[in-house]
Amino acid sequence: MEKIKMTTPLVEMDGDEMTRILWKMIKEELLEPYIDLKTEYYDLGLEHRNETNDQVTVDSAMATKKYKVAVKCATITPNAARMDEYDLKEMWKSPNGTIRAILDGTVFRAPIVVKGIEPCVKNWKKPITIARHAYGDVYKGSEMKIPGAGKVELVYTAEDGSQTKELVHEFDGPGIVQGMHNLNKSIESFARSCFTYALDTHQDLWFATKDTISKKYDHTFKDIFQEIYDAEFAEKFEAAGIEYFYTLIDDAVARVMKSEGGYIWACKNYDGDVMSDMVSSAFGSLAMMTSVLVSPEGYYEYEAAHGTVQRHYYKHLKGEETSTNSVATIFAWTGALRKRGELDGISELCDFADRLEKATIDTIEAGEMTKDLALITTIENPTVLNSEGFIKAIAKRL
Ligand code: NAP
Ligand code: MG
Repeated sequence: MEKIKMTTPLVEMDGDEMTRILWKMIKEELLEPYIDLKTEYYDLGLEHRNETNDQVTVDSAMATKKYKVAVKCATITPNAARMDEYDLKEMWKSPNGTIRAILDGTVFRAPIVVKGIEPCVKNWKKPITIARHAYGDVYKGSEMKIPGAGKVELVYTAEDGSQTKELVHEFDGPGIVQGMHNLNKSIESFARSCFTYALDTHQDLWFATKDTISKKYDHTFKDIFQEIYDAEFAEKFEAAGIEYFYTLIDDAVARVMKSEGGYIWACKNYDGDVMSDMVSSAFGSLAMMTSVLVSPEGYYEYEAAHGTVQRHYYKHLKGEETSTNSVATIFAWTGALRKRGELDGISELCDFADRLEKATIDTIEAGEMTKDLALITTIENPTVLNSEGFIKAIAKRL
């Protein structure tokens, strides 16, 4: 069989621990036999990040700007324990944070829906994709404990020295206070990424804030979305037959629970943090969540939503068998290959991505799965496969 040819490379960001093991197997068993795989390889494994003083992470993000499509393996975000384990020079920042800061993107997370892994919410028939704004609000807030009576104000000092003040509260006893901010530019990028991705995936876009209570802060989010929609996207949405829908966050939550899914739900930073955990656990398993970073300029970085599955990796190192689910990592590759195919006009690449996704879903629906899914499936007597066995079972169908 002749292999599918690629014209532009994918940016390949390798990672850590168990997902690094799966990464290699996926390439060898599922991709390289069929595709003349063209990638520009960046090793984001923690050892190499440490050797390069994390320059490799920056380089991989810059390469994504050049080639537009990247696929990333899960990576360790160092903490104190990792400093010792890997003898690190510094506690390097989260690669995802670094990449997101350079690409200025929004992360979209969507569950992979298969028969036999049923959502807890029984009317959810199609995936719900959560788009989380990844800048500001409470995550960049400053806080104070107020020890006793006194006045707290917000003070804005303009460049010319003039001041505007707003009373927060006249305290008559101890309390707490919090200041937070956001930037129009960041909200605009968020809005453009959401509208772009809705068009890309042909899904409605929902957005919700608490604008009735937060008449300036949240209302600005609502206004910016509406302005950008009207000026740049309304016609395209109409032509595509999809809808932009704004509502109050309470109303959105109520509607989401009763919906059948199949849309993108854009959330402010905190809402997205909380709601993505709710949606992913309700859909069954973190190991079945994909994630894509979409920049307002149209750069895409695909990955699995889960981490490096450290506990399984330590078992693997001890020579014990693992049953780690590779579905989300496979779908990161198919997402990237499909996007590469679309951008370069290589329909064979898009077809291949479809077929690999189908082979993966068919494998699970035929009752062959990893342990995490076997524990929650409604399929009777599933066959539990180990990490490699599952990938081989997919390869057989492919
Ligand atoms: P994790 O890797 O997501 O794993 C947490 C637990 O979830 C696992 O122990 C496992 O449960 C289950 N799990 C997750 N993915 C699975 C899969 N594919 N197949 C089967 N089970 C799966 O989170 P973590 O252990 O808290 O974090 C490990 C490392 O990942 C950390 O260093 C963290 O910094 C990093 N991380 C990276 C990213 C990223 O690169 N995007 C995201 C999150 C975390 P059982 O042990 O019960 O089987
Ligand atoms: Mg969270």
